[in-house]
Amino acid sequence: MELNNISVIGSGTMGNGIAHVSALSGYNVSLIDSSPSALDKALETINNNLSRQLSKGIISDSDAKEALGNISISLDISQSSQSDLVIEAVPEDFGLKLNILKQIDSVVGIDTIIATNTSSISITKLAEGTKRSDKVIGMHFMNPVPVMKLVEIIASDHTSDRTHEIVVGVAKSMGKIPVSCKDFPGFVSNRILMPMINEAIICYEQGVASADSIDEIMVLGMSHPMGPLRLADLIGLDICLNIMNVLYDGFNDKKYKPSKLLSDMVSSGTLGKKTGEGFYRY
Ligand code: NAD
Repeated sequence: MELNNISVIGSGTMGNGIAHVSALSGYNVSLIDSSPSALDKALETINNNLSRQLSKGIISDSDAKEALGNISISLDISQSSQSDLVIEAVPEDFGLKLNILKQIDSVVGIDTIIATNTSSISITKLAEGTKRSDKVIGMHFMNPVPVMKLVEIIASDHTSDRTHEIVVGVAKSMGKIPVSCKDFPGFVSNRILMPMINEAIICYEQGVASADSIDEIMVLGMSHPMGPLRLADLIGLDICLNIMNVLYDGFNDKKYKPSKLLSDMVSSGTLGKKTGEGFYRY
């Protein structure tokens, strides 16, 4: 199957990065969002990130111009109708994602593959809401997308081998390293990462150490490039809470219970870097 046209639904933190790498890899990209200001911000971010890659010598001037030329924006999901692959990157909410997948399913052609960038939600349940469950798959990019090599590929109980093979090929064509796993809550990455972040928040809550000390211990002691509390701020505390809730509900095991402080911070709108304050001030 020749795959040329990719739509990305949701142009936030992840969506603009996915559009960036897709366009830079030569795909025609429709970047779609329900918010005009989000689309404006996404184009500005893509422009800035391409300029940074240009100044570092990672890409050429013509690569950057061609990538920008490959991207069109829209407020209308039906603009994805000609796509070979649609990648959904709206917020981590099952009802919202299901609704978006149903809309995509109703406008695209029968061969179109629908991928979701969900961090933790069941691909099987999302796929069952469409009429093409064999062509629905998880394509979990990492943040920041233009920099991070991994794409966690999650096949549901219904995903066909052909869909899996095509999506692995697309990830490779974007210069990424796809690694496949099965459809369990949080997959592999967030099932291991989020309980660690949650435990770091509990340590902070109990006064075991300051935020700086907790992060320094994990950076120096475990060779992590960034401490868990700073990483939580970067990911967004709302997303961390959503993922912990998916693990807690999915496994029905209290070891995944989100910490009270994480819930309280999200309730008060303290969401990390994107709101200017989390465990640190920005
Ligand atoms: P975000 O809040 O930055 O962006 C979401 C975008 O979706 C926004 O621009 C919003 O306007 C748009 N949107 C909301 N409702 C919409 C609708 N009905 N139609 C079209 N657009 C709509 O979120 P994000 O951090 O980019 O996360 C997106 C997905 O990627 C989530 O599932 C998240 O779990 C996953 N993810 C996030 C990270 C991360 O570090 N932030 C990493 C990997 C995966």
